[in-house]
Amino acid sequence: MSFKTEAFVLQARVWYKADKIYYLFTPQEGVIKTVLKSAAKPGNKLSGHLLPFSKVTTMIGRGRMDHMAGVKTLVDYKNLRKDLRSLSLASSVAELLLREESSGNKQIEFELLGEIFSFLDDDTVGEDVKMLLVRIFLWKYLSLSGWQPELDNCLLCNKEINGQAGKYIAGRGIICREHESMNSVLITRELVEFLKFIIKADWSKLTDISLSQSLNREWLRLSKIYYQSVYERPSQSLKLFSYG
Ligand SMILES: [Zn+2]
Repeated sequence: MSFKTEAFVLQARVWYKADKIYYLFTPQEGVIKTVLKSAAKPGNKLSGHLLPFSKVTTMIGRGRMDHMAGVKTLVDYKNLRKDLRSLSLASSVAELLLREESSGNKQIEFELLGEIFSFLDDDTVGEDVKMLLVRIFLWKYLSLSGWQPELDNCLLCNKEINGQAGKYIAGRGIICREHESMNSVLITRELVEFLKFIIKADWSKLTDISLSQSLNREWLRLSKIYYQSVYERPSQSLKLFSYG
């Protein structure tokens, strides 16, 4: 059986002799691992279309290992690959997707990925804004993938925590400040509102947000905790939250 699909190229690895494995992100299944025979041989026409982070349309043959039978570039994102900072941000995004293990239809995530790569490719968007948008991408993506934090009602007593400070439990959401909980940290009302906003808002509303230094610091600290609760092993992408 074979099927045609759009995909983002996340990563490539040498497989056997001149064959390569490509990790693609598809709308139907999320990450798939597929072999391209003779990819490293000079003159291979398909591998030229499989540059990192580009969007392609490809024919996948199903088998013991999936393999690619045809590839065409749809969006190249070549500015993204020319700029080291953008490239490193795109690698962090790719790493996030490669490690995340939920399966099933990923159409919305697929579109989200196209949007973040377009920002990284856009050389009129400043470096700081790109970094901010990638951090927002993390919250949006994980929220879609079964890690949506509960930010409206207390996880323990279900009371609405509207407009109040509370406590945050990593990977799960908020509880009232009165509850004793070993594994929670304090969270301000401002950050709860900010998180609700970035998870829901369109990118058009996010490219010019500004946040105070203290809110930014709190967000980074909490993002680190969130991220570590999803990914057990330490990861390169954590560097996203190391500097504000
Ligand atoms: Zn409560």
